Amino acid sequence: MTATLIDGKAIAEQLRGGIAQAVKGLERDHGFVPGLAVVLVGDNPASQVYVRSKAKQTVEAGMRSIEHKLAETTPEADLLALVKALNTDPTIDGILVQLPLPSHINADLILETIDPAKDVDGFHPVNAGRLMTGTGGLVPCTPLGSLKLIKSVRADLSGLDAVVVGRSNIVGKPMAQLLIGENCTVTMAHSRTRDLPAVCRRADILIAAVGRPLMVKGDWVKEGAIVIDVGINRVDAPDLGPGKTRLVGDVDFEAARQRAGAITPVPGGVGPMTIACLLANTVTASCLRRGLVPPVL
Ligand code: NDP
Repeated sequence: MTATLIDGKAIAEQLRGGIAQAVKGLERDHGFVPGLAVVLVGDNPASQVYVRSKAKQTVEAGMRSIEHKLAETTPEADLLALVKALNTDPTIDGILVQLPLPSHINADLILETIDPAKDVDGFHPVNAGRLMTGTGGLVPCTPLGSLKLIKSVRADLSGLDAVVVGRSNIVGKPMAQLLIGENCTVTMAHSRTRDLPAVCRRADILIAAVGRPLMVKGDWVKEGAIVIDVGINRVDAPDLGPGKTRLVGDVDFEAARQRAGAITPVPGGVGPMTIACLLANTVTASCLRRGLVPPVL
């Protein structure tokens, strides 16, 4: 079997199109345009790239993007004060503090200070609790995007065996909660899991969110499984020339696609969905804050 390729770029573009339509509708019918504030502390090059594309895509979707760029040496108290000001600013619907933060700043404290109603990353413990209890809230963007990719190839996931490799608060745990919500039987694997290949071979849906290049081998994949590769790893690529690098996922794509039913590539799979879901969360937050029913995106 050669797997169907799940085209995250195309699906994200479609989602952004729906978001742009929804934003026009909100302005026309309710007289407001959602606003997303992105806070960047320091000059981490990868973070700068992420923040630039978030701002660009926010504006392309017709929303307002408000950027706050702070020096690496910004005291924690100043960042806390900014977050509190954004919490009470009625023109701001979503707040995103780009991670990682410099080591002198307590990231958990900052994230817990964001108003859960504006927490478009979905990292606040209130939103984590809401996801766990199935009581609404804002869902972390990468797992939300991954679920949309799974559902692009199979609408009903009820009863399927899902294995999530990785148990971080931002990907693995919320991913498992979303799959439980879809009535999957979910196994969470991590660095202490015994016989990981055997655990993965049980999966009708296999999610790799580890951060280890090509760790998941082709023969760990059950015939016909849906494979979602969240990992983004930069590795040396001497075949492209001296000093060159390329991005690869956590899954050995070429081998896995021979067995999977559907699989995401890296790049072009989960990555593009993450920002699209951030925009979707901003629209959702803007509606919920005003007592409106959010559009289905
Ligand atoms: P973390 O480092 O926070 O978590 C990694 C998880 O993988 C941990 O639970 C760890 O287990 C587990 N793990 C590590 N080694 C092994 C192993 N040998 N076998 C089984 N499990 C292992 O990473 P994140 O969740 O933040 O990110 C994971 C990957 O996803 C990274 O490549 C990151 O770049 C990518 N990512 C991509 C995004 C996107 O937009 N596409 C967004 C966010 C992340 P333990 O808990 O036991 O240590």
